[in-house]
This record gives sequence, C-alpha cells and structure tokens, in this order.
Amino acid sequence: MSCIGRFAPSPTGPLHFGSLLAALASYLDMRSRNGKWLLRIEDLDPPREQPGAAGSILRTLDAFGLHWDGPVAYQSQRLEYYQDALEQLLRQGAAYRCNCSRKQLKTRGVSGLYDGHCLRYPPPASASCAIRVIHPESEQQFQDRIQGVRRYQWPPGYGDFVVFRRDGLFAYQLAVVVDDAAAGVTDILRGSDLIDETPHQIALQALLGYPMPAYAHIPVITNPAGQKLSKQNLAPAIDPSQRQQLLLRALSLLGQKPPTDLATASRDELLSWAVTHWNIAAVPGTLSLCESET
Ligand code: GLU
Ligand code: ZN
Repeated sequence: MSCIGRFAPSPTGPLHFGSLLAALASYLDMRSRNGKWLLRIEDLDPPREQPGAAGSILRTLDAFGLHWDGPVAYQSQRLEYYQDALEQLLRQGAAYRCNCSRKQLKTRGVSGLYDGHCLRYPPPASASCAIRVIHPESEQQFQDRIQGVRRYQWPPGYGDFVVFRRDGLFAYQLAVVVDDAAAGVTDILRGSDLIDETPHQIALQALLGYPMPAYAHIPVITNPAGQKLSKQNLAPAIDPSQRQQLLLRALSLLGQKPPTDLATASRDELLSWAVTHWNIAAVPGTLSLCESET
C-alpha cells in the first residue's frame, strides 16, 4: 500500500519557519517513499483566522517547491462530515453534553483535566453545551517515529475531551481525525506542539472505526527561554526570495546533512537531494536556537 501524508496549516497568519520545517519534513517523508502529499487548510475557527493567510500559505509552499497532490481541502467546507461523526459518537454513548463554564472548569478540574461532572449530572436540554468524548482508557501509549514511545495516564474518569465547542464550532480534535481518515492518510508528521493531542485523536479513531496512522512529531523550535518560535514571539514570516538558504537551513535543523557543494544549488536540486537522502532517524527530538539565529 502506498503512503499518504499531509500538511494541515491553520490560516492564522503567513507561513513561518517552524511551519516550513513541518511542511518540508512531511513532504520529504512522503516523496522519499513515493507517497502522496496532501494539503488541508484548517479554517474552522474564524475568529483566529487572518484574511488572506490561506492564499499566502499556498503561494509560499509553491515558491519553496513543496507541491501537493490533488485539490486543497478546506475544513470550512466539510462541516457535514464532522456533524455525522459527532452524531455517531452520541449514538454510541461515547460522548455527552457539558455546559461547565471556564470558571467551573478551573475550580473543579485536576491539573487542567476535566472531572466528568456533566456525565454524572447531565445539563438541562435547553442549555447551550459543548460535547465531550468519554476517554475510553485512563492509560495509553503510542510509538512516535521521532519521539519514541509516549506514555499517558489520567486518573480514571478525567480524560474526557471536547469535540464540539460551546461556542458552536467543531473542535480541532474531531475535524482532524475525520479528515485524515477520509483522505486515507497513513502518516502524520507535524510539530511536537501537537504531540499531547495525539492520544485523544487515537481514541477517537478507535471509537469511529478508523485505522490509526503512523505518527512522527518534529521538534518545535524554541528560544533559550523555552518559548516556542511563533508569531507571538515574533517569528518572522519567511521570505521566498531566500528559499535556497532557508531550505538548506531547514534541512540542517532536521538533521539531514546537505553536502557543502549544495550551497549554490537551485531549489529543485536541493529538494531532489533531500528526497533521495531523507533519513527520519536523523531528525533530533528537540531544537533550541538563540534569538539571533531565528
Ligand atoms: N492545524 C494545526 C496547526 O496548524 C495542525 C494540525 C495537524 O497537523 O494535526 O497547528
Ligand atoms: Zn461539564
């Protein structure tokens, strides 16, 4: 069976260097195995989106030679599929309504975990509610191709997570699982800021009867203070006119060792070298850069 990977940016701003790393790594991981590489815009949260960001992300990927297969998927056009999955979970008794306020969640949870209150005391039918999935296990583990075995544990009854938000939006967790399954994605490679979402996504796949893809989480670049490189701490948008240098830099950070004679290579020569030599085992688990290097 041939493999299918994807890049799934949220259009909250232009592509920054951290996202370029994830896009490039996922692209190389697929192309080196003759797999497909899909693109999905995760535009499910309009208040967080920036007008024009989706178009700018597509143009940047294109300028870097990261060409995707088939049409771009947009989550905003797939709400009926999320609705179907939500109804399936409710029918199976795997999910329940929750109208706890932020404040109540703060006082009742245990280190950010939900205590299952609304499962024991269902809210009135008229209340506007989030929907939570009952996390079927209190212990879980999975094998990550870069980070190794990851183990998770919750006090029994404390792992329940939101798949539909109280403000009426489908949650990322549900959409990502439905879309990856619908597209036949076999390999998810993304930033390690999402690694702790993975056990919930694996639980959802099992509940919805979907196969589980392989997971790999590349390190998120942090500054020496441990802060993630992001728009908030001024990660600059990347400049396509610098694409050769940026690709070389990204490859080195991913532990791939581009030979020095590639220093003057074209974009396509660089990518073709990288596809042939891609070695996921060389990707480091963590990455810290000084502010001056970012
Ligand atoms: N849309 C998510 C983000 O930009 C990524 C989703 C994923 O790769 O699973 O952070
Ligand atoms: Zn609740």
